[in-house]
Amino acid sequence: MSVGVVWFRRDLRLQDNPALDVAVRAHERVVLVYIHAPDEEKPWQPGAASRWWLHHSLKALDADLRKRGSMLHLLVGPSSAALGTLIGQTNATAVYWNRLYEPAIMQRDERVERAMEKRGVAVNITNAALLVEPWMPTTKQGNSYQVFTPYWRNVREQLRPQPPCSAPTKIASPHIPASATIDELKLLPTITWDKGFYTHWTPGEHGAQRRFAKFLTSGIEDYREGRDRPAENWTSSLSPHLHFGEIGPRQIAWKILRSNASAGGEWFLRELGWREFSHHLLYHFPKTPERNLNRQFDTFPWARRDALSIERWQRGRTGIPMIDAGMRQLWETGWMHNRVRMLVASFLTKNLRQNWTEGARWFWDTLVDADLANNTQGWQWTAGSGADAAPYFRIFNPVTQGKRFDPEGDYVRRWIPELKSVPTKFVHEPWLDADVLAKTKYPAPMIELSASRTSALGAYQQMRRDVAKIRVEK
Ligand code: FAD
Repeated sequence: MSVGVVWFRRDLRLQDNPALDVAVRAHERVVLVYIHAPDEEKPWQPGAASRWWLHHSLKALDADLRKRGSMLHLLVGPSSAALGTLIGQTNATAVYWNRLYEPAIMQRDERVERAMEKRGVAVNITNAALLVEPWMPTTKQGNSYQVFTPYWRNVREQLRPQPPCSAPTKIASPHIPASATIDELKLLPTITWDKGFYTHWTPGEHGAQRRFAKFLTSGIEDYREGRDRPAENWTSSLSPHLHFGEIGPRQIAWKILRSNASAGGEWFLRELGWREFSHHLLYHFPKTPERNLNRQFDTFPWARRDALSIERWQRGRTGIPMIDAGMRQLWETGWMHNRVRMLVASFLTKNLRQNWTEGARWFWDTLVDADLANNTQGWQWTAGSGADAAPYFRIFNPVTQGKRFDPEGDYVRRWIPELKSVPTKFVHEPWLDADVLAKTKYPAPMIELSASRTSALGAYQQMRRDVAKIRVEK
């Protein structure tokens, strides 16, 4: 009897899962396994919000597998040893998995692949996470891209709709000794700060499909115009589902391209393109989660780490409504609207002049969609140190941005109850009227926006002078 092992990682779905599809076709029986080995992902092992998601996603996957006559076998790492034991128990001849692109995981996977081959076990690796492999698109000179528009032009031109493979209807598995339970992995928090997550999210493949279907009927047409307005649900909120592979980008592209992408659909594909581009960058520049992509920023005069200011930012107590609304949305739901992510990142790195890695770490722990490629790219882009970054002098003003993208103040009022009855004209700058501010329990701004902007621009000029000096000295 031929046995294969499917190693689930962040591809927690049954449809459009090439590793599963190939294994089920090739073997009479397959073992389906998830290995809990966070240490192998260090220093970027999943944060608290991601662990919450993972717990529920594994549960959902196990339930789906049981409906097909199998189950999810849970093991605790190290991965290579766990797979080795499993292969010994089942006499499996091949292991199947879908590729991931984080530097620590890529190194781990290479080690596992070598160990399997040494034992004479075949390894079959496929792509389920991206539209194109990150090494595929190159410039005419054969280099990696560092600017999004030509990158996406290249990828988009080559994009052809391909039907994703369907979920197997029945899966036969060999009998093996009992595995760990999901609860034993202790992924859920012991202090219950996660209550709000349950009302906002349904982790798992069904939750992902439902969200996508809803977006296709009620969001995609107006996506291009609406996507910058944080008060309404104009965007898909698919990011955590995409991160955990509960839905794949090929499934999304297939549906959109087959229906002759509308302007909204085309723009949505372009945002998926940013996800692809982020992976392209992380693949080619694997040190960027800790290091500036633009090395000129190595001389940038960040302010000294200011724990008190950082804490006010984290807790949504800066006194600047758009910033606080975003940070409270993040705490309550594990997610924040993209426009507001840019604003809070700009505020931390430019107005407060704290190093972008400080913010990236906080996002890593609190976002349910925390993703090393997207998070690194988002922070470096906003800080000015990344590829295709916003020019440094474009410092977002959270008041004018609030008036433009949240004109009635609905978003701010939803997340900051203290400002519920503040008149619209003051909702983005309640400090303008001392009486208004006094009636709320909302703090006065922790920093003056225009003075801190000037000081950030001064720091940038200093960096440019320092870089020029280093060049002359060389
Ligand atoms: P939609 O607008 O519906 O877009 C669809 C999908 O496209 C998203 O789910 C996401 O996978 C991808 N996408 C959209 N915008 C971007 C983008 N700018 N960069 C990369 N991919 C994108 N996204 C994450 O998934 N994880 C992160 O850890 C993360 N950290 C960020 C940090 C900062 C400072 C910034 C500015 C952005 C970050 N983003 C991150 C990108 C973006 O904010 C989220 O992907 C988006 O808000 C998710 O909401 P959505 O699913 O409704 O997006």
